[in-house]
Amino acid sequence: MARGWYNKTDMDLNKQIDCFLLDLDGTVYLGSKLIDGVKEGIERMRNKNKRVIFLTNNSSTTKAHYVKKISSLGIPVTMDDIYTSANATADWIKENRKDCKPYIVATPETEKEFEENGISSCNENPDTVILTFDKTLDYSKLVRCCDLIARGAEYIATHPDMVCPMENGSIPDVGSFINLIEGTTHRRPDVICGKPYKIMADCISKKTGVPLGRTAMIGDRLSTDMKFAIDNGLVSVLTLSGEANMTEYEKSGLTVNKIINSVAEWDV
Ligand SMILES: [Mg+2]
Repeated sequence: MARGWYNKTDMDLNKQIDCFLLDLDGTVYLGSKLIDGVKEGIERMRNKNKRVIFLTNNSSTTKAHYVKKISSLGIPVTMDDIYTSANATADWIKENRKDCKPYIVATPETEKEFEENGISSCNENPDTVILTFDKTLDYSKLVRCCDLIARGAEYIATHPDMVCPMENGSIPDVGSFINLIEGTTHRRPDVICGKPYKIMADCISKKTGVPLGRTAMIGDRLSTDMKFAIDNGLVSVLTLSGEANMTEYEKSGLTVNKIINSVAEWDV
């Protein structure tokens, strides 16, 4: 199986990588349980002076929440080490749509994080809809959101994932909301910011100052994490500790640089 750099050693790859982007669910933890050996794998990366950023599409909550969760699993982490698709969306809007009047579909904590970034939900005549993983979505919000989109508001979504994996099965994520909204409005988002899209890659490179070719994405989902790395010129490392298995990888048509059983295997 000669697939790209599949046979390169960790040592070879390590020379090329200055920054590791680690997905969270399925890569660092499963639900509330740390994946065995991941803490030590991250320590080895940091001991080699590599930057480690936790990069998640999950826009249902905030950097502060992830700091608390990851710290509670024994991994030292600061706000600066976390980046979500909601953060990429806020950064993109500040740079490209600073005068927009958004209606933000979000949990109270994510809405507050947007506010802290200078982006507040607007009740009167919004011209933009920002769709996030709103676990508090109710029928009135859905009606408002569809009405604005049908009337031509710019439609921005944080990420495209159809489901979010949980300990007892999957729950509907933004991709499923997008399909529901399309059924009503016949529109798809104008802009999607999270993995696998370029906006997330540009935002991360700007944040770290590390070129994308010297940045590795380690993740468990082929359609987001690995497509993100491949499409945007990052080093792609698939971990089999979460969603994807080898059969799905073989079927996917994607060629990643390296496959590991878990981040615990990163041994340099
Ligand atoms: Mg994942």
